[in-house]
Amino acid sequence: MIRIGQGYDVHRLVEGRDLWICGIKLPHTHGLLGHSDADVAIHALCDAILGALALRDIGYHFPDTDPAYKGADSKKLLAEVCRMIREKGWEIGNVDVTIMAEAPKFKPHIDSMRECLARTMGTDADNVSVKATTTEGLGFTGRREGIAAMAVALLTKD
Ligand code: MG
Repeated sequence: MIRIGQGYDVHRLVEGRDLWICGIKLPHTHGLLGHSDADVAIHALCDAILGALALRDIGYHFPDTDPAYKGADSKKLLAEVCRMIREKGWEIGNVDVTIMAEAPKFKPHIDSMRECLARTMGTDADNVSVKATTTEGLGFTGRREGIAAMAVALLTKD
């Protein structure tokens, strides 16, 4: 059996915050604003995995009104989401994440992002794709007001 899910997330870029994407802290002048570490790519990925099993979204499971998740490491949320699907007998098939940002440059970090996500999800890095694109200066991502991420997840069950 297979199931597919998709996820999307956006966070605002601000000064004075660290930039966490796919579980990696990237050198940059700005970071993403949010209740947790605001890892926009992990949030989209969590929603894709949850969506595959119609298990609502991360805001439902980890509310941003809950002080327990203030400054939370999003890797812990992703690990918990993977625990939830395994509890129901499902396994990660493959995932594909696209980050939309004008800056910084993601190319040097793609492999460490893939490895970090794979480790967190308990799967092989070959099952984890991370891509990044600019939006050619257009829209809120192009104006560097925020970063968006999309993800697709395929889950399998024997
Ligand atoms: Mg989010």
